[in-house]
Amino acid sequence: MVYYRLMGHGLANEVQTITQVYYPNEHYYQTEEVRQEGITVESRLTETGAEGRLFVDGTLVQEGTCAFLEVPPSLREQKRAVKAALSCCFQHQTGYVPLWGIITGIRPTKMVNEWLDEGKLPEEIAAFLQQEYGVSPQKTALTMEVAQAERAILAKSRPEDYSLYIGIPFCPTRCLYCSFTSYPLNRYAKWVDGYLDHLEEELAFLSARLVHQKSMTVYVGGGTPTSLNERQLERLLQAVHRYFDLQEALEFTVEAGRPDTITKEKLQVMKENGVDRISINPQTMNEKTLALIGRSHQVSQVKEVFALAREAGFTNINMDLILGLPQETVADVCHTLQEVESLAPDSLTIHTLAVKRASRLKEQFDQYDLTSVSVMEEMLEESSRTAKRLGMAPYYMYRQKNMVGNFENVGYCRPGKESVYNVEIMEERQTIFAVGAGTTTKLYEADKNRVSRVFNVKGIEEYHQRFAEMLCRKEAGWKGLSLPMIGEKWR
Ligand code: SF4
Repeated sequence: MVYYRLMGHGLANEVQTITQVYYPNEHYYQTEEVRQEGITVESRLTETGAEGRLFVDGTLVQEGTCAFLEVPPSLREQKRAVKAALSCCFQHQTGYVPLWGIITGIRPTKMVNEWLDEGKLPEEIAAFLQQEYGVSPQKTALTMEVAQAERAILAKSRPEDYSLYIGIPFCPTRCLYCSFTSYPLNRYAKWVDGYLDHLEEELAFLSARLVHQKSMTVYVGGGTPTSLNERQLERLLQAVHRYFDLQEALEFTVEAGRPDTITKEKLQVMKENGVDRISINPQTMNEKTLALIGRSHQVSQVKEVFALAREAGFTNINMDLILGLPQETVADVCHTLQEVESLAPDSLTIHTLAVKRASRLKEQFDQYDLTSVSVMEEMLEESSRTAKRLGMAPYYMYRQKNMVGNFENVGYCRPGKESVYNVEIMEERQTIFAVGAGTTTKLYEADKNRVSRVFNVKGIEEYHQRFAEMLCRKEAGWKGLSLPMIGEKWR
């Protein structure tokens, strides 16, 4: 049990997330007083900086301070100081020096891109990350490389462009670590056609309100979009074309995902409907782990559908892997990487395991030993080496809450094979309209560099019942904004 006490500020999220880096997988509670049992973390903000104190069973064991670098401090500076003061206490107490220092947010490159926009030099930013945020030299180098790659991709985006995300919340079975909106098909197959009816209505609603219907990227994700049968998949993809002009679109991705749902016919349907990027996600190429994490496919199926996809003419295929899966060693990961290397995909997304609240993994947490920080670091290095051998470079990166070892997810690709959508969703420089249960529309206002979110409800039954409300929510969200791509038709 870890308690935290805030004094002179309300930055609970910052205090909790930096505490989690050093004391992961605990329960965290806000308190008004130092507790006599367990750990109490005290964070105070003064006019000149932040102070941190760490108590164990009511006894003060560490103290730390951090002065503001600017006065008056911006909100970002207040957050930095609060985390730095506490981190000082935690490092002395635990001896642990996190590679990401005090960066706990999910998008380190977003911050770097903002500094680059302000005219700061890359070397200046790199030095700042290391000195003031405590980021290690290797993570600083990764962040800078990714931020520069992202900038080149973001430069392709015009103010009137937007992306379209379509969520398909069905999967063959539920994976151990899954926290997404996902319904097993064996129980929910009868819901699919009705769900597609509503998706079409959302697409029509969007299309009728957009002055021009040219979407820059389309991303069909989930769940597992290829859980749909051939007829349903064709219906969905044709509906996208009916409502949106994709002639100038930069990419049309379907995250096929689970190999056990991909067939020659579905690949054909995707090809005929202009899909030019797909993802086939093994996560691991070790049979024992696949069984353990509840994925009902075999390694041989990954290879078979990959070959089928190449035969069907797909020249941009991504593969997702997860490092730190239960009971996997560095040797297991190396085996996966060798197998993937032999297939030679065009991009590779390397995730590190996150223990999410809504997952079965969280419930069964005590049954598994989590991968240690040093082992995860080794796994990440092996992945980076494999990507390099495949001629790939990192081009997007994000972090999640509750990642084992507080690491990162990195997208690598061969030149020209990047997913523009992946960068846009991370960097939040473009409006992304999202349809389907559990999806989030992000409305971007370029002049304020601000994003407003409009949520669709998560549950499929709720989405059905409250469908009219989802449209009203979108309408209300847009009316609160005056976006460049929104013309008279909106008002
Ligand atoms: S395939 Fe993805 S969305 Fe489906 S259950 Fe597994 S993790 Fe969840």
